[in-house]
Amino acid sequence: MLQLGGNCRITLVRAGSYWWDGGAMFGVVPKTMWSKHAPPDELNRIEAGFNCFLLELDGQHILVETGGGVRHDERARERMRLPHPPYIRDLVDAGSIDIVINTHLHWDHAGGNTVDDGGPAFPNARYVVQRGELQHAREQHPRDAVSYRAINYEPLVESGRMHLLDGDVDLVPGLQLRVMQGHNRDMMIVIVRAGGETWCHFADLIQYAAQLTPTWVSGFDLYPLEAIANRTEILTQAVREGWWCSFGHDPVVTFAQVENKEGKWRTI
Ligand SMILES: [Zn+2]
Repeated sequence: MLQLGGNCRITLVRAGSYWWDGGAMFGVVPKTMWSKHAPPDELNRIEAGFNCFLLELDGQHILVETGGGVRHDERARERMRLPHPPYIRDLVDAGSIDIVINTHLHWDHAGGNTVDDGGPAFPNARYVVQRGELQHAREQHPRDAVSYRAINYEPLVESGRMHLLDGDVDLVPGLQLRVMQGHNRDMMIVIVRAGGETWCHFADLIQYAAQLTPTWVSGFDLYPLEAIANRTEILTQAVREGWWCSFGHDPVVTFAQVENKEGKWRTI
């Protein structure tokens, strides 16, 4: 838990974790290097937390990400070492959530958005995502169509619960959503400022603390050069302003400050 000033509390709500190929997660980085940070199992998989965050900000309850959900067949559960994932709506007071932020619509970030009939898992919430991300999800591009499942977002769009954003926005006072290309075209990072301190959720722009080296781009990233540029930009600001940082899938590091010593980025 992280307290920013008197009126803002940030709590990690990890909706379980899955295990995915370490080589895919770390792209062109050799295993001899990434395995020091993320130990693989016998099938070369590394742990990826479904890192969601509950923000209590000026009396509002805001959920960042909804994890991978529970709609997985047996083969997928075995492939991902995901026997019985918890349901995000059971980990928080679902009725109290005012806003759900989907940094993007990949299944492992929006999988807990809806219940089985497509109704909202958070009955009193409005959901937000970038309009460009929804458009991309609907394109069903062969490269990443497998990451998008319509049941996670289309019912919310149809019922008017999903609010579509166009670019950077101050969602509520103290909470900024910033589009940062890299992982994909329209993913957002979340920046909260309160009590003179700042917290940033990098989501999949930086999935693991080990990816603080900006060139350690994930094999999933659609725009690796932009990922490097945007990571460098945001990390420079994070160091300069002493931000607390969180990562999309790191199973160990929850909140960390960052430093740059002799050109090397790392958590303090
Ligand atoms: Zn993603």
